[in-house]
Amino acid sequence: MYVRPEHDQWSFVEARSRAYDGAIVAAKHLAPYPPGHQSFGKPADRLARAVLAAQRTLVVDPGTPQLSSRAVTRYASAARLRATGGAGVVSLPATPATVVNTVIRDRFVDAVMDDQRLASEVAPPYFEPRSRQDAAHRRNMQMLRRVISVQGVQRPVAFLQVTRARLIAGLVTELARDYAATGVERVYLRVRGGGEQADAAGMRAWLAAVDAFMTLGVELFPDCVGRLGPVLVHAGAAGFSTGTMFFRSAPQALLSRDGGGGGQAVSVESHRGWREVERESAEAAALGPCPMPSCPVGRAADPSLDDLREHRLHTLDRLAREAVVQDTTTLIRSLRASAQPRAGVWADVLAERARRIA
Ligand SMILES: [Zn+2]
Repeated sequence: MYVRPEHDQWSFVEARSRAYDGAIVAAKHLAPYPPGHQSFGKPADRLARAVLAAQRTLVVDPGTPQLSSRAVTRYASAARLRATGGAGVVSLPATPATVVNTVIRDRFVDAVMDDQRLASEVAPPYFEPRSRQDAAHRRNMQMLRRVISVQGVQRPVAFLQVTRARLIAGLVTELARDYAATGVERVYLRVRGGGEQADAAGMRAWLAAVDAFMTLGVELFPDCVGRLGPVLVHAGAAGFSTGTMFFRSAPQALLSRDGGGGGQAVSVESHRGWREVERESAEAAALGPCPMPSCPVGRAADPSLDDLREHRLHTLDRLAREAVVQDTTTLIRSLRASAQPRAGVWADVLAERARRIA
């Protein structure tokens, strides 16, 4: 399980490294701080260095779909995104049309690869495709081939971002063959507006995407999926990523404030599985000790926010480890036992799939 740290979580990723296997860091969180920023002049790559110091896998997400939004040229909050190497070599907003020219496109790819120089994997820039015939998809494939042809010791991977509606329409399944044809080994799939809130249609589409990539021998790694992750891992996904507090799922807005979500009520992951409870509720008070012996949740009177964040990570990690070895019937029973409506829907879809495979 990989964590998606916020821009200033370097002490968390270093101190709580036992709770995750790797970290996906947004490239903008490693770009130089712009003048006027409270951290202006401080080392920009602290977050990546913290992941490496913790001896965890570092993945850097180029985050280039955000560059195609008009907002990128306007808002002060996008200043750090504009300061990435990739954003510096193209005119903004950058769209598939911006990189039709081979020389400009290759320069863009190389700059984005350089933004990932500390990572063990390397991904091309990417745009959000609308269809297989779309210019965005064609540019994505050209840029992926460029990465594969020039990459040195880093493992070539790709990020794919689609909307929930297009996932459900089958776009990811349709594109899988093109990705496999490039020789890429792993694809990180992020669905805008559809992570752990996945309903039955969303869940069916996620499972179809996992199946399509798995059949072609490409690892599919769901990105920003929170509690949906363990279920997808059971179905064959290579792993999954989650945020620690905010953005466990993909943010709705293309551009977020640098500080992350904010304003959301703090909740506690129930270690009985598949749901979270309000922090101040009687239910939270009655949770009992977490199965992880060193965890203060259910033991100490007032666990810190970082304790709750770490508890979220190790709970999802434990659910994923259980889900890998469980047979589908046991997993379905565990989802239904949580009495959480979404988990019940996922159980129904898993049961449907099990009947089809049998
Ligand atoms: Zn815990």
